[in-house]
Amino acid sequence: MIGEPATVMSVAEAEDFALRILRGNGLADRQAEPIARAIALAEAAECPSHGLYRLIGYVGSIRSGRVNAAAQPRLCRVAGSFLRVDGDSGFAPAAHATGASALIEAARSNGIAALALTNCHHFSALWHDLDPIVEAGLACWAFTVGQCIVVPHGGTRRLMGTNPIAFGWPRSGEKPFVFDFATSAAARGQVELMGRAGKALPEGWAIDASGRPTPDPAEALAGALLPFGGYKGSALSMMVELLAGPLIGEPTSREAAALDNGDGGPPPGGELLIAVDPAIFNFGLADDWQQRAKAFFAEARKQPGVRLPSDRRYAAIQRSERHGISVPSALLEELKKLSPVVGTA
Ligand code: NDP
Repeated sequence: MIGEPATVMSVAEAEDFALRILRGNGLADRQAEPIARAIALAEAAECPSHGLYRLIGYVGSIRSGRVNAAAQPRLCRVAGSFLRVDGDSGFAPAAHATGASALIEAARSNGIAALALTNCHHFSALWHDLDPIVEAGLACWAFTVGQCIVVPHGGTRRLMGTNPIAFGWPRSGEKPFVFDFATSAAARGQVELMGRAGKALPEGWAIDASGRPTPDPAEALAGALLPFGGYKGSALSMMVELLAGPLIGEPTSREAAALDNGDGGPPPGGELLIAVDPAIFNFGLADDWQQRAKAFFAEARKQPGVRLPSDRRYAAIQRSERHGISVPSALLEELKKLSPVVGTA
């Protein structure tokens, strides 16, 4: 919130801070390190809903024992270029770190490959999972099922998660084109942060428990969020439920909600990543795909007022690397209490 006291720290300090809190709560390094990196990068990207604030939920689910703090994810090849990581009931970033290189290799060899992250708990931003795959020269989609808090278009009862979709396209000599958003009007973390900052929700985001529109974040969290774009976002959200749920043997958000113990942490649920190698899909037509995509993006940029998804994020990361990140001091104090080790440091 404007005027709220803030503490400036470097991105590396944020990563170290997150790591010490996670370790201090007994999380094994194999799990803690990729989470701490994802959290610090989200802060650098000025995406606070997936930054340090997320530690509250991560720690909640470690302490309640719902997540396996010593999880050892395992990779297996299910068939051809379909790979699966069993997350051993740990967190998704460690499962992703276990399978990402194999996905890249399988897509390069076969033209297309898929990786299912299963038996894990997902809480992070999808762009973080896409970036290394797209930077390796592949186009990639990612889907995950979020916490069950979204009503289908026209309905009043929660059925779906906030269910983000992300897509990335590689560009030579440039950072990739990546978009990544929830299929709800807003991500749940953003509604929570707006509640903490005393802000009202825009119209069309949420309904209260009796199904009436509400601008109040607390009423929205007790009620439900709406899909973005009416029936269109609702259908996309349903697609995500199917792709990242039954298709890969993972729960739908509604099934996962039945297992929720209220510790504030991520629900059980996996992620599906599908990667394609454009050089193979393009029938070997040299770099034709690159040139034509480049011309397409250039046309978009010619229009005043148009910016491409990720432009803001890349600029924010550069800024944060130079000047550090700014974290609300009250949040930082709250987080320090999560670990005696950090709190006394
Ligand atoms: P936003 O509504 O903020 O949309 C983000 C995407 O849209 C980004 O790619 C962003 O690019 C792009 N974008 C935003 N404004 C513009 C614009 N004017 N022109 C062009 N592109 C634009 O995201 P959400 O709040 O819906 O989601 C935030 C995050 O929450 C996502 O990273 C998602 O993965 C995560 N999430 C995770 C869940 C989980 O369970 N794991 C559940 C739900 C959400 P840029 O970044 O450059 O601004």
